Amino acid sequence: MEIDCLFCRIVAGQIPATVVRETDTTLAFRDISPQAVVHVLVIPKEHYADVATLTQADPALAGDVLGTAAVVAETEGLLADGFRLIFNTGSFGGQEVFHAHAHVLGGEPLGPMRA
Ligand code: C5P
Repeated sequence: MEIDCLFCRIVAGQIPATVVRETDTTLAFRDISPQAVVHVLVIPKEHYADVATLTQADPALAGDVLGTAAVVAETEGLLADGFRLIFNTGSFGGQEVFHAHAHVLGGEPLGPMRA
């Protein structure tokens, strides 16, 4: 656990979050500032700064994050109409919290990605 990491503190139960799924290695919770009808974040419980670092260090754990994202998409009812899975990475990618996380977005048409 990184003491100054917001998402590590959510994993530790020190900051509240609305959890929708938890596995041994991952946690999924609703984004505090949703950008779509459904907006869930999926994180590895172990701290990695971003998805690139995570995938290089522990590909199996990266797979766990994707697996939890897929289950969340199913349980949130997103499979029929589709959804978006985003890993903002680094400053150009718009990442604000430097603990790897996937955004699961859906429940409405999201439109094209903008540059
Ligand atoms: O990909 P990025 O780092 O920009 O996303 C961080 C996300 O974490 C934001 O969508 C923000 O709303 C969310 N957040 C949250 N709960 C917090 C702090 C941030 O869901 N306590």
